[in-house]
Amino acid sequence: SQTLKLALFGDPVEHSLSPEIHRRFGQQTGIALDYRAVRCRGEDFGPRFAAFIVAGGRGANLTVPLKQAGLGVCQQVAAAARTARAVNTLVRREDGWHGDNTDGSGLMLDLQRLGLDPAGKRVLMIGAGGAAAGVLGPLLDRQPALTVILNRTRERAEALAQKFAHRGVVIGGGFDQAGDLNGFDLLIQATSSGHGQALPPLERGWLDARAVAYDLNYGPAHRPFADWCSRQSLVCHDGLGMLVGQAALAFEIWTGRRPQMDPVLAALRSGQTAP
Ligand code: NDP
Repeated sequence: SQTLKLALFGDPVEHSLSPEIHRRFGQQTGIALDYRAVRCRGEDFGPRFAAFIVAGGRGANLTVPLKQAGLGVCQQVAAAARTARAVNTLVRREDGWHGDNTDGSGLMLDLQRLGLDPAGKRVLMIGAGGAAAGVLGPLLDRQPALTVILNRTRERAEALAQKFAHRGVVIGGGFDQAGDLNGFDLLIQATSSGHGQALPPLERGWLDARAVAYDLNYGPAHRPFADWCSRQSLVCHDGLGMLVGQAALAFEIWTGRRPQMDPVLAALRSGQTAP
């Protein structure tokens, strides 16, 4: 059978785990694929993507800073990508390129895997950037009892909550307004503060005694939040499973096959390189 030609566009992409993850999905399902990272941003994306199409490209992932630009290259945009105003997965179909966003549903897949279904739960999300916006739709689909978004820039959290208000009980505000919050079951850390900046002012008192935390960050960027959680005796998961989850859903869009996450996660955690 023909090799499926795939690529990741963005900058930086040199240390991305996506080529490794998709190589393993390919091995697991017996689907021959060629997945390459293409470093580009801004005006370089158009010509690079055009060259990829000419070379027979069938599907792609977009990462920072190209997720918004991705909306401009597709003929069809799925609801998840339209709501998040960001495309992370592109697939070539008979009627042209379709854009989707699997980040938020990738997180839901990982929460499901961890036995942390947000249905009926009280969810506290820290951060209101692009990742938070992508997560909110799929999160509210699970129908949590209450979702509160806290952000350094208060207006951004308020705007995000307002945009999703028709989908559930969502409240947004600043950390200075968090005073009497309590009883949350799930804390989702969706800020980029782990990349060398101080964590926002978090308080254990916001959370239920049995609450669990989930950090969208993984690797060294996960360390500051993991350390805070461990000081608070709070169980905490990193975002590697979300990365593998969004990849599994992208792979399914390209191939119609949903690969297994667990063996790939185990291999990444043990630092194995692909055979
Ligand atoms: P954005 O740049 O869009 O947003 C950054 C967010 O972090 C904003 O809410 C910003 O607040 C907040 N923030 C940054 N620094 C601080 C700080 N020092 N204190 C308090 N708040 C801060 O980034 P993204 O939303 O795209 O990404 C967020 C994180 O999620 C990144 O670290 C990214 O790597 C990770 N991620 C992981 C994925 C996975 O698959 N595991 C997928 C996507 C993202 P403000 O609005 O005030 O600036």
